[in-house]
Amino acid sequence: MSSTPQNRYKADLREFKFLLFEQFPLQPMLGTAPYEAWGQDECSMVVEESYKFCCDVLGPLNAVGDREGCRVEGGRVKTPTGFPDAWKRLYEAGWKTLATSPEYDGQGAPHMLTLAVEEFLCGANPAFNMYGGLAHGAAEVISHFGTARQKSLYCRNMLHGVWGGTMCLTEPQAGSDVGSARTSAKRLGDGKYAISGTKIFISGGDQDFTDNVVHLVLARVEGAPPGTKGLSLFIVPAVRVNEDGSLGERNDVNVGSIEHKMGINGNATCVLNFGEEGKCVAELVGEAENVGIQQMFMLMNSARIGVGIQGVSVASAAYLSALEYAKDRKQGASITNWKDPTAPRVPIIEHADVRRMLLEMKARVEGPRALIMKLAYHSDNVRSLKGKDDASAAYHQGQVDLLVPLVKAYSTDQAWKVCELAIQTYGGAGYTRDYPVEQCARDAKIFSIYEGTNHIQAMDLVGRKLPQNGGANMQAFLGDVARFISENERHEKLGPLVKELAGAHEAVAGMAMRMLSWFQSGRMQMVPLAANRVLEMMSELCCAWLLLDAARIADAALAKLPAGEGGAADRAFYLGKIHVATYFVKNILPNAKHTAEVLAKEDTSAIDIPVEAFAAT
Ligand SMILES: Cc1cc2nc3c(=O)[nH]c(=O)nc-3n(C[C@H](O)[C@H](O)[C@H](O)COP(=O)(O)OP(=O)(O)OC[C@H]3O[C@@H](n4cnc5c(N)ncnc54)[C@H](O)[C@@H]3O)c2cc1C
Repeated sequence: MSSTPQNRYKADLREFKFLLFEQFPLQPMLGTAPYEAWGQDECSMVVEESYKFCCDVLGPLNAVGDREGCRVEGGRVKTPTGFPDAWKRLYEAGWKTLATSPEYDGQGAPHMLTLAVEEFLCGANPAFNMYGGLAHGAAEVISHFGTARQKSLYCRNMLHGVWGGTMCLTEPQAGSDVGSARTSAKRLGDGKYAISGTKIFISGGDQDFTDNVVHLVLARVEGAPPGTKGLSLFIVPAVRVNEDGSLGERNDVNVGSIEHKMGINGNATCVLNFGEEGKCVAELVGEAENVGIQQMFMLMNSARIGVGIQGVSVASAAYLSALEYAKDRKQGASITNWKDPTAPRVPIIEHADVRRMLLEMKARVEGPRALIMKLAYHSDNVRSLKGKDDASAAYHQGQVDLLVPLVKAYSTDQAWKVCELAIQTYGGAGYTRDYPVEQCARDAKIFSIYEGTNHIQAMDLVGRKLPQNGGANMQAFLGDVARFISENERHEKLGPLVKELAGAHEAVAGMAMRMLSWFQSGRMQMVPLAANRVLEMMSELCCAWLLLDAARIADAALAKLPAGEGGAADRAFYLGKIHVATYFVKNILPNAKHTAEVLAKEDTSAIDIPVEAFAAT
């Protein structure tokens, strides 16, 4: 490796400006509460400057973090070269406090803008970005459920990078089954508790950037009921915090070891031992016992959106790397000269199959990105409308709730597919460490596993989100897509594609009814068998809808572009939007109808097969 690490991260800023100002226009919300300090120029400046920061500071450390990894020295984690300095520069630049409320000296930026910046931060260096992401999420929980004293003691420091933060759920016997957690909490009589137990796989469990790390730990108070209902959430600082905010002595929290992983090696995934000497002092988040899981859920929602962004950001980085390589690498002649051995060699992007892979990647990046932006659009509307138009705010909140499992699971499943295609596009070079895409693939695989595996997301969708509010959120979603269809089915150019969307809409609506009938008739075994595929088909419908909407906007914009060189870049961009929508609808969306047909057969062979029939081993 050269001594000066190079940035290999890239993003297409035109795409972000399109999403923020043309498709989900932020403009009507800017300049009014709660975004009165924000205008379009400020938003554009943030997009450009944060991207520059990511390319200058975080991108060059991505491969360094992957190769060096983290290690434990003297009981403390040492992060890769350059990470502590990058942390300082990140918080000085203010990119991690964009979303922070002005109450904690943050910039209170619109959610849509924050998600765009998060994509750059994460795409440039996913392992590094997790440290700040978890600290932010943990602080949000304290700010939501904590007492006034806790808010003032912890939140500001955690939000401004002075202290780190973690989320500690997993134990060896309690992964997806969080309710099996055995970490215990003993009342000490002064409102404090003594925590005892071991948590595993804790992201950012320690680092060498901050003097303190505030762990949020799920534990069971002595005598509490079994399962998730008996879990309470505790604030467990690695260094105790005095009442005046100064740091006291170290708490009894120790890094047992760090995992040796497939990817995100720059992030320390720790085994944490709490109370080995019986001196791990903690306090409840807020004042109530046995509400830990509800409190964690709040962090889980924002963490799940964050993982969806991780998926799109790494997928996008892999796609744009593969695109650059495909324009440069020459191999073979054009198929039109296939019999002529002297014909000139062409860049591989000229070959139909490479172009297919590139457009497939573009579709599987831009579809999920639009889905995330739609969620953020709803979320910004909740904030803007609350107190002014509560019925509309409730509709938008319902859509946020419904889309969270789609954002988490669909975006991260696509990320793995896109990274695989990016390696394939490179050929052998993609399999080597000389290019970034093999790291992208290794980093991306965890996204479908942590923060609730994608099957947990699918069960959340079919078990909680579809029936939520008596099914009204799902009905409103289907209604929004149906309105788009009726308004655009006679569109001169896109009409035939919109008709395909109508077929998928019908398939998804029918599938939701079938799911309901399985619940009502007690055919529960069909629910988990179908859940992941229902999530996938609903996500495909949503992405196709949003990509077609983008194509509609692009088509109208193309008609207004000046002829000649002047609008060349915009022309290319808008054409890209039309082609990507066409590809998605004709090549990916048919899966929704096909899945509905498959699921209608109610095949139970995966349940019927005896365990010993899988293999004779
Ligand atoms: C790099 C990394 C970072 C992590 N960071 C954190 C962190 O910061 N904090 C934290 O608390 N945890 C963290 N985790 C843990 C992570 O959230 C868990 O690995 C994840 O929730 C899955 O749990 P598990 O690994 O025990 O798998 P299991 O729960 O054993 O699941 C194995 C398989 O069985 C399936 N399965 C399990 N239960 C069911 C069921 N009831 N029905 C159907 N299928 C089921 C799963 O979907 C999966 O396919 C991290 C893990 C890794 C690898």
